[in-house]
Amino acid sequence: MSLKTRLLPLFLGLFTATAAAAAARDCGPQALGVAREIVIDGGQRLALGLETYPRTLALADHEVVLTFDDGPVAGPTDQVLDALKAECARATFFLIGRHAAEAPALVRRIIADGHNAGYHSYSHPARTLRLMSDESARVDIDKGIAAVDAAGFGAAGPAPRTPFFRFPGFADTPELVSWLEDRSIAVFGADLWASDWQEMTPQAELALVMSRLEAARKGIVLFHDPRGSTARMMPQFLRALKERGFRLVHLVPGRGPTPIEEAKPGWRSATEAIIAKTLGPKGQRREPQEGRGVKTNDASPR
Ligand SMILES: [Zn+2]
Repeated sequence: MSLKTRLLPLFLGLFTATAAAAAARDCGPQALGVAREIVIDGGQRLALGLETYPRTLALADHEVVLTFDDGPVAGPTDQVLDALKAECARATFFLIGRHAAEAPALVRRIIADGHNAGYHSYSHPARTLRLMSDESARVDIDKGIAAVDAAGFGAAGPAPRTPFFRFPGFADTPELVSWLEDRSIAVFGADLWASDWQEMTPQAELALVMSRLEAARKGIVLFHDPRGSTARMMPQFLRALKERGFRLVHLVPGRGPTPIEEAKPGWRSATEAIIAKTLGPKGQRREPQEGRGVKTNDASPR
C-alpha cells in the first residue's frame, strides 16, 4: 500500500471534519442551531402532543420542537426554509401529499436541508379524515405517504421513509390511530400553536406565539408554512428563541426509547373540544347535511 493510499482515508476524514466545521462556522455561535436530537420510535405506539393526547415528548425546560403543516407551497415554504437555514435550525414538516406532488423540488429541499418530511394526508379533506369511512381515510393517508416519498426520494418505499403523521385538524379516530401505531408510524399532535390559521400580522403572531411559549416554557409548536404571516415572522421568531434562551430539539426517526411525559392529572384535550363543536364527539361519524359540507371553522386548527 503506497503512502498516498494510506493517507487517503485520513485526508478524507480531515476533509469531512473541516467541511462540518465550515458549515458550523457559516452560522456561528450566535445562531440558534440544534441543541440535541430525540429519537422517535413509532414502534412504541406514540401519539403525542398535549393539545390532543394525554402525553408528549419529555422535553427539558426551554426546549422547543418546531413543526410545520400543510406545505409545501412555493413562496412561503421557501421563506421558512431560508429562515431555518440561516439559523442552522431543523424542523419537522407534515406535508400534504397533493402539495408534495405539485412541488417535488421543495420536498427534496426540505430533506436536503436536514428536516423531516412527515405526512398530513393526501387531500387534507375539508370534512376531515374522521368523517370519512375508515377505508377512504386509510386510502387518503397512504396516498399522501406515497406522494411525499415519491417527491422526496424518487419512489415510495416498502415502508414510510419518515414515519411521522399528523391528522388534518387533529380529527383522528381511535381506529385510525391504532392502524398507524400498528405500522410503527408516530402520530403527532402539538403542545401549543401560533393560531396562524387566523388572519393576523407577522408581529401579532410573533407576540402571540412567544407569549404562549413563555407560559408553557417548552413544547412541540405547530405552525403552517404556507401562511404568509408565519413565513414573514420566521426569521424574527428564530432570533427571539435564541435571545430568550430557548433551545431547539430535532426529531429523528429510529429505534427508541423515546422519552415520554404523561399529562398532568385533570388533563383534557383542547382540540377535541374544538372539533366537537363542528364535527360531533370523538368516534361518532356525523355525516354532513345535504349541501352543507362540514368543515372546521376559522377558530379551529387545520
Ligand atoms: Zn393541516
